[in-house]
Amino acid sequence: MTSLVLLDQALRLHDNPLLWYGARADGTAGEQRLVAVVCLDKSAFFSKQYGLARASLLRLQQQLQLISGTKQALARFNIGLVTLFGEPAAEISRLAMQLQASQIVAASPTGYREQQTLAKLSDRYQVTTIDVNSLLGTAALTPELSRLPDSFSAFRKQREPLLQVAPAVATYQPQPAQQWLTPEQSSVFYENFHQLAAFSQPSLPPGSDEQHALQRLDDYIWQQHAISHYKSSRNGLSGDYYASKFSAPLATGCLSARYCWQQILQYEQQIEANESTYWLKFELLWREFFRWQFRKYTNAWFSKHAIKGPLDFSPPTLTKARQEHFNNWCAGTTGVPFIDANMRLLNSTGLMSNRGRQNVASFLIHDLGVDWRLGAAYFEQRLLDYDVASNWGNWAYIAGSGNSGERQFNVIKQALSYDPEGDFVRAMLPELTAKGSLIHQPAAEVKVPEHWRNWLAKLTEKKL
Ligand SMILES: Cc1cc2nc3c(=O)[nH]c(=O)nc-3n(C[C@H](O)[C@H](O)[C@H](O)COP(=O)(O)OP(=O)(O)OC[C@H]3O[C@@H](n4cnc5c(N)ncnc54)[C@H](O)[C@@H]3O)c2cc1C
Repeated sequence: MTSLVLLDQALRLHDNPLLWYGARADGTAGEQRLVAVVCLDKSAFFSKQYGLARASLLRLQQQLQLISGTKQALARFNIGLVTLFGEPAAEISRLAMQLQASQIVAASPTGYREQQTLAKLSDRYQVTTIDVNSLLGTAALTPELSRLPDSFSAFRKQREPLLQVAPAVATYQPQPAQQWLTPEQSSVFYENFHQLAAFSQPSLPPGSDEQHALQRLDDYIWQQHAISHYKSSRNGLSGDYYASKFSAPLATGCLSARYCWQQILQYEQQIEANESTYWLKFELLWREFFRWQFRKYTNAWFSKHAIKGPLDFSPPTLTKARQEHFNNWCAGTTGVPFIDANMRLLNSTGLMSNRGRQNVASFLIHDLGVDWRLGAAYFEQRLLDYDVASNWGNWAYIAGSGNSGERQFNVIKQALSYDPEGDFVRAMLPELTAKGSLIHQPAAEVKVPEHWRNWLAKLTEKKL
């Protein structure tokens, strides 16, 4: 039997049950003919959503770099990686026919598109899924979707007492019972993927492959012990160690969430367990929560009122004035320094702190009155840690259409709390010259909402 092993969500050798597929299944050498495959979904990277490109060039380059790194890593074991490009169900079917494969082995999907792809393939092939990216992925821990709470607190209270994340599986080593297609045999199937060569950028800063992800984890947890002060530093806006920066490798799947979790437990056993080490697990539980929420509500997350209210997939509409506000928000030219600094950081690096994300999202939705889905779509385009569940789930959360009531932040108050001397804004907006916290004063043309007035007064008081 020939099986295609889809590595799209798990381009890594550590804790990767997909690569171990068939290794010990029957112990009979040579029976499992396996083909490692990755398919770059053309429309996820090259189409538009609400008029916005779905992915920035940087995000595409990151994915191509990750694919090429994994291909090299597998080649060291004489395993080929067939790289496809196009509409995933069509491309994978075509390959399965060419190789007479009858089975497809893939990561359990979270997002609706991936769910649809596997549903289409299951009409013709035997599809086996393994949950390689969830903490609760193993059968004994898997939540029952119909009983999954819709509030994070209820989810955490329900799961935490029972939470035993399964150990990570061993880093992959070739097994006699597996017969993988070799790099040479795989190379004949690459023709579509060659079209992407023009986008490869060898000078992209390192950081988006498994090796760098594991180095970052080691550095953050074991070398710098930054995990020991995570709770007090996690609301920072920029810098190397204010938070873990595990999000991009977790989102692309080159870092295993289960492995992270087990590393935190080891740190707690060997070095110290404190409220910071707990809090990093707490945040990983947020990620987990959204993953299961997406499996529960599937495409409702893209509806105007997300999981609250009737389904309405009509695209967002904007008045001329709001369109201008939205364009300024994207470009980081709203005239509100704290917002613009965060948006320019996003535009230049593909990342933004959690504190920044909450503020710019709240500002767009609640102060500018723009449909939350436009903000989510812009984040989808720019974020190097773009993850369908964490992104759309958090946006809907702040809009009040997801797992909470509306969350409105007072961005002037927030600027004063998290950038009291204005250093972050000054670094991102060098054209602003005001001293100290006065730098947070919005530009003259900004229409100041009532709820900012007390806090704007404090900027001036501070100066006096
Ligand atoms: C509007 C909005 C959009 C977001 N979009 C994304 C996204 O596309 N991808 C993404 O990974 N995160 C997203 N987040 C969550 C969060 O902002 C990032 O995970 C975090 O800033 C990444 O930095 P870090 O790895 O240093 O996080 P840390 O603070 O070190 O947290 C550790 C890990 O916990 C998880 N985590 C932390 N906070 C959250 C959260 N609120 N929701 C879900 N998981 C969380 C992440 O996997 C993160 O890597 C979004 C938040 C908001 C408010």
